[in-house]
Amino acid sequence: MDKDLVTLKASYIVQGPGEVINGGQVTIKGPKIVEVGPIKAPMGKVIDLGGAAVIPGLINAHTHLELTDLEGKIPPPKSFTHWLRHLVSYRRGEANKDLGPAVKRGANLSMESGTTAIADISSTGDSLKLLPEVPIRKRVFKEVICMDPAMVASILEEAIRVLSDFPRDGLGTLGLSPHAPYTACAKLYQGCTLFSKGQDLLLSTHICETKEELEFLKEGTGSFAIMLRAYGMLEGWEPPGLYPLAYLKKIGALARPWLLIHCNYLNEEDIYIIKESGSSVVYCPRSHHFFGHEVHPFLRLLKEGVNVALGTDSLASNKSLSMMDEIRFLLENNQGLSPQEALSMATVRGARALGMAGLVGELRAGYEADLAVIELPRAQGGPVLEDLFDPESRNIVTLVAGRPCYDRYGLFTKDSCDVH
Ligand SMILES: [Zn+2]
Repeated sequence: MDKDLVTLKASYIVQGPGEVINGGQVTIKGPKIVEVGPIKAPMGKVIDLGGAAVIPGLINAHTHLELTDLEGKIPPPKSFTHWLRHLVSYRRGEANKDLGPAVKRGANLSMESGTTAIADISSTGDSLKLLPEVPIRKRVFKEVICMDPAMVASILEEAIRVLSDFPRDGLGTLGLSPHAPYTACAKLYQGCTLFSKGQDLLLSTHICETKEELEFLKEGTGSFAIMLRAYGMLEGWEPPGLYPLAYLKKIGALARPWLLIHCNYLNEEDIYIIKESGSSVVYCPRSHHFFGHEVHPFLRLLKEGVNVALGTDSLASNKSLSMMDEIRFLLENNQGLSPQEALSMATVRGARALGMAGLVGELRAGYEADLAVIELPRAQGGPVLEDLFDPESRNIVTLVAGRPCYDRYGLFTKDSCDVH
């Protein structure tokens, strides 16, 4: 018996969103999947998962683990800027707090709920410091904020220094994130775009999130102007007179694909610009609902061929970091959406968005062994993709690169196992 091989047997193997094997097995060697198919003579150690479903690990394409300690601390907002002011004052009141424990808790909550890869925005640098220790796959973005062109060079220099300390160990990749067009000036967007050229350094930004953001860029007025003036961030700043995506295009920032967060308010031209740039959009359904936005255009974007991934955002605007909960919410609120499409947004589309296509997001020979095992509710028995997101189904095992990061029943430490 090859001791390096582990075979997971289960009633259902969801290879990709539309590909379900009834009665199948996944064989893993070290960090990789070596075989996926119907049940046959197993190879190596066998773990029998009974009636469970093995699915590709879930990919959270947008979160802020440094905000995990703000769970329930920020009251329901009257407006987006109202929420942002609360967030800023909360953080100013506890400057220099070590956010490592918050990051760790957020990563653990993610892995427990079947998430194997995250795109995390690091504002303070704590996440960049701590995440290398956590066995989850990650793309960590250093967030940069600067509205003063004269300060851009030093802000970028510092960001690059912080990023260069991050160990790239196979599970960790990096990114740069100018926060949003109302906190990052044109020079900062251009600097990030230039620096990332020719590197595996993904760019991400929050964009078209609120109507107030559109007004601010177009007219230079509204609640953002009032807030940023109060923070002393608008000296010498002139509104570009364009909507956010047209503005990024004009300054040359969209010369390469971005990970565009939110995109709650888009017009026809915006959709064309996103398509043209090859960027991916991240929709955060429960955070979108928290702020009371208008209906999100994700169905239209998908129809237009834009890659749309899903994110939880942070616990400052969401109740959990579970992608299973995110998908359940999405399906409950979009009757016409198939579980297959929802799963695709949380797996294969997430992988594409994070620059991990062909590596994770599906269960295939040669791919990384990133997967989740979902225990299905017993009384069901409908199509497996529907049972998968039943409120009673739950994740019992999370593997990242073949390593158990969550193992509810200790299946990987027993010699042989049987779950029924
Ligand atoms: Zn965000």
